[in-house]
Amino acid sequence: MTSTLITGANTGLGFETARQLIDAGHTVYVGSRDAGRGRQAAEQLGGRAVQLDVTDDASVRAAVKVIEADGGLDVLINNAGIAPEWTDDGVIGAADLTADLMQQTFETNVFGTVRVLHAFLPLLQRSAAPVVVNVSSGLASLSRLTTPDTSAYAYAGVAYPASKTAVNVITVQYAKAFPAIRINAVEPGFTKTDLNANAGAQTVEQGAEIIVRMAQVSPDGPTGGYFGNDRTFPW
Ligand code: NAP
Repeated sequence: MTSTLITGANTGLGFETARQLIDAGHTVYVGSRDAGRGRQAAEQLGGRAVQLDVTDDASVRAAVKVIEADGGLDVLINNAGIAPEWTDDGVIGAADLTADLMQQTFETNVFGTVRVLHAFLPLLQRSAAPVVVNVSSGLASLSRLTTPDTSAYAYAGVAYPASKTAVNVITVQYAKAFPAIRINAVEPGFTKTDLNANAGAQTVEQGAEIIVRMAQVSPDGPTGGYFGNDRTFPW
């Protein structure tokens, strides 16, 4: 049975990804920084709750121990993410960007991803068919940020896209370093979740599709790529 960990799976895209992968037969560890919300989500889904705050070393180490004791990990989905630049007064752009906002965003989206990857690598390396999915964003694409007439071009924020571009770099460099692991970045598309106060254009079912597909990639499938539901994204 494929063993899968999803960070930030108590709600949004992570929760829906868990639902679809449980349907597909995976044993899913529902990662949640809040143990209570995680337990509730895992019960609802038929998954296994694991407390995991990606910004906290002790919490990540404890999650490794739990999953290792249960038998190991085949698929890691780095889904937990934040966008503190999205405020009730609009997007915080370059004029108001502070180092604190940048640091807060990177703490979860970038350092959190590396913390979880680093901690779970030994378990993934013991899997017969290891897979990593890094949930990125269309806003991570420097090509699109610099191409007029794309939705990304018009976007004014700095911290969130920069953090997801860093996730893309992490993806390609880990993919080269660990050729036995399929490691890809995905862009779910603008999806109604708490992250954007449900302003997204898609449902979570639609958004989770590419995450679920890349979580099930076969050992001869792509690695080091950047994929959306219907196309490969330009870096
Ligand atoms: P969401 O509904 O806000 O879910 C985010 C999840 O991440 C929540 O479970 C949240 O936990 C968790 N999280 C935040 N900080 C964490 C931490 N320190 N440790 C562990 N978990 C943490 O947002 P979403 O839209 O589903 O986002 C999922 C991923 O998709 C993110 O990486 C996001 O950047 C990406 N994405 C979203 C969209 C979109 O349009 N929605 C588009 C492109 C990419 P709490 O419930 O405790 O806050």
